[in-house]
Amino acid sequence: MYDFIILGGGILGLSTAMQLSERYPDKKMLLLEKESGPARHQSGHNSGVIHAGVYYTPGSLKARFCLEGNRATREFCERHAIPFEICGKLLVATNEQEMQRMGALWERTAANGLEREWLSGEALKEREPHITGLGAIFVPSSGIVSYARVAEAMADEFQRRGGQIRYDHEVTAIAERTGEVIVGTSRGEFTSRYLVTCAGLMADRIVRLLGRNPGFTICPFRGEYYRLPDRLSDIVSHLIYPIPDPSMPFLGVHLTRMIDGSVTVGPNAVLAFKREGYRKGDVSLLDMARMFSNPGILKVLGRNLQPGLHEMKNSLWRRGYLEEVRKYCPSLTLDDLEPWPAGVRAQAVSRDGRLIDDFLFVNTRRTVNVCNAPSPAATSALPIGRHILEKVGEMIQAS
Ligand SMILES: Cc1cc2nc3c(=O)[nH]c(=O)nc-3n(C[C@H](O)[C@H](O)[C@H](O)COP(=O)(O)OP(=O)(O)OC[C@H]3O[C@@H](n4cnc5c(N)ncnc54)[C@H](O)[C@@H]3O)c2cc1C
Repeated sequence: MYDFIILGGGILGLSTAMQLSERYPDKKMLLLEKESGPARHQSGHNSGVIHAGVYYTPGSLKARFCLEGNRATREFCERHAIPFEICGKLLVATNEQEMQRMGALWERTAANGLEREWLSGEALKEREPHITGLGAIFVPSSGIVSYARVAEAMADEFQRRGGQIRYDHEVTAIAERTGEVIVGTSRGEFTSRYLVTCAGLMADRIVRLLGRNPGFTICPFRGEYYRLPDRLSDIVSHLIYPIPDPSMPFLGVHLTRMIDGSVTVGPNAVLAFKREGYRKGDVSLLDMARMFSNPGILKVLGRNLQPGLHEMKNSLWRRGYLEEVRKYCPSLTLDDLEPWPAGVRAQAVSRDGRLIDDFLFVNTRRTVNVCNAPSPAATSALPIGRHILEKVGEMIQAS
């Protein structure tokens, strides 16, 4: 019998496992992951940005945890000798409408407690000669890291403190009983006093395994990237983001300096026809049937038909994709877009057809389940783990 089982070897499961092993050094713990190593899904297929916390609704969990997570991630990397760089981010306005939106974003950055600077078009050009815009907000605290490296260090720390990890173990059944939780996997059954699940793209299916109606569905959005050729690795010295439409802040491809020295363009956001489908041609008939029979997802697709089709068109038509980035980096050409692997975002959609904005947790008597953890959840992994530990503490007290 384990004291804690953690489901999911992404950055959230590993952050939680690591912090549980620190808080409860004498307890027996097991992490179960269906893949053969850590960070094989969202945590290993992302932009690698240590976000500052620009866009999030003031007072939301995202705003709070991102701000805390930015600092905590840097400290964690310093302690574990993981390379990172605080290169800063420029949010660039390219037309009058974006200048107005930039004003609103300026207020939001103040409400979220961020240091920032307002730059004119000329000041922007001085900092970034290849970037063109009417103005920009400079946020110095944004940075870059490999979250796969961070996740690996968390796994090492958990195991060093006696925690066990079993890869290639897919959880297929969960039964919550008085005093215990029985977890069935593809390779046998395990029993624990408490269970924490951080299943990313499978979060709703895990809540269903618990016998609960989750009240939300995960909608997978593929984020496709390109990479710039090595000769353009110095084209920018900051992260360059467009000013987003406030109703869809995750849309808008950016130029991202990666910690390995390369620069990526992207990601876009296209509906994925398979939850863990990284290539355009990946299709799961079962995933599609469930998606297109879900009233919440149908409402989201209906309401966002135009931007959805626009993203899909640019996914299939590289020139359209290029034009998105040429708005602020006009020197790029089609030949500069080299292939780079995509990621798939897990976005929870409510039954009434809303994209759930904030981080979402569903708790039962003996389980804590992370249900919506899109970006900036990698940045926020340490505070999210701490939040889960508080919930676990409450469960222990109540039982
Ligand atoms: C394209 C893209 C760009 C992003 N960019 C950024 C960024 O720059 N900065 C940032 O902060 N965030 C970013 N994010 C968000 C961030 O990557 C995620 O929020 C974060 O990685 C979520 O971590 P997770 O552990 O919840 O999920 P995951 O990393 O997806 O891990 C979930 C794990 O659960 C396992 N699992 C699922 N079901 C089962 C089962 N039944 N049995 C056993 N194991 C199971 C999966 O195999 C997986 O390993 C981005 C995301 C994407 C997709």
